[in-house]
Amino acid sequence: MCSGCRVDRGQVCPEGEDSSVTLFREYLRLRTVHPKPDYDAALRFLDRIAEELENTYMLYLQIVSIMTWEGTNPALKSILLNSHTDVVPVFQEQWKYDAFSAFKDAEGNIYARGTQDMKCVTIQYIQAVRRLKAEGRKLMRTVHLMFIPDEEIGGHEGMETFVNHPEFKKLNIGFALDEGLANPGEAFTVFYGERNPWWITVHCPGSPGHGSRFVENTAAEKLVSVINSFLNFREKEKHRLNTSECLTLGDVTTVNMTMVKGGVAYNVIPAEMDVSFDLRIPPTVNLQEFEKQIKQWCKEAGDDITYEFAQKHMNQNITSTEENDPWWSTFSATCKTMNMTLEKEIFPAATDSRFIRAVGIPAIGFSPMNRTPILLHDHNEYLNEQIFLKGISVYKRLIPALANVPPLPDEA
Ligand SMILES: [Zn+2]
Repeated sequence: MCSGCRVDRGQVCPEGEDSSVTLFREYLRLRTVHPKPDYDAALRFLDRIAEELENTYMLYLQIVSIMTWEGTNPALKSILLNSHTDVVPVFQEQWKYDAFSAFKDAEGNIYARGTQDMKCVTIQYIQAVRRLKAEGRKLMRTVHLMFIPDEEIGGHEGMETFVNHPEFKKLNIGFALDEGLANPGEAFTVFYGERNPWWITVHCPGSPGHGSRFVENTAAEKLVSVINSFLNFREKEKHRLNTSECLTLGDVTTVNMTMVKGGVAYNVIPAEMDVSFDLRIPPTVNLQEFEKQIKQWCKEAGDDITYEFAQKHMNQNITSTEENDPWWSTFSATCKTMNMTLEKEIFPAATDSRFIRAVGIPAIGFSPMNRTPILLHDHNEYLNEQIFLKGISVYKRLIPALANVPPLPDEA
């Protein structure tokens, strides 16, 4: 085993490499990839880290692990540093390198699934806490590092379940940090809300009959009308996004037709045809009004059309980014002292933050990666080691700033 790093068991010692980078690469090699993530490997890894950091380590529901660094005033609300341990599958043939080898090229770009989403953040939290502890720092509020599974498959067995667990409430969280996205420019993107995913299937019944005749009231005619209504709306939203300087993807509703079902034979007019859409709705949209609009489209398309939702999120909580909010003002002021420019956005997809916000806890999605192309879930996902290392310094400033936010009026 090399003195400067933690590499052993026959691996090549990356001479001169920063020990945080070595630890990051070790974590990237753990195959916590769907559909069969090796969570046991992640838990063994985290267990070892907790021991190194002398943090209290707890395991809940057999899979959610939490390391706790107790504050000097543990009665105050705590700070949650959340990260998920799973990663999405890869199409290995599309990758330049083995997606689980954590190959580092001459420029210091580390290639692996999870470099951006979000094993970088996990190790950055850990290393920032490690450095703060090594300096003998004491923070006022308790800091919890939470490592949660199944985010990439909707979080139902992970965060969605855990936020309603009595042990979660006991953590007494006041503010949470969770994942964000890379930013190709100089700025850093922060997310204060998410769009609501609605997965809807519209059933279009019609008169069946022989394929040689002009049957009235067919399922196909209704289907076409429904599809046109949804896709016309899609065009309008796309146009709105493309013609406005200040809108990002998170500010508009995306509509995509994802499945069509129906029919049994060439010469048989079917009695029903179904179409499904994936909608992502920003928190600024009135959801009741929006559903009325859908109802209207169905009504206009013909008789007896029904719809059902496979997923219909109604939570429109957003985290305050007002300057008088104690958490946000601390977060943004600390970033300012590091000369970081922040761009505030609504997250275009979904993360575990939506479950945290749903139980009333403010959460900011933030992965400190600027000058980095957005490659989450993509082939050849990578992160440069210098950007990664800079992120540790960012958290080393943010964590104490947040954990030292003075007692709030409701904590007195
Ligand atoms: Zn993620």
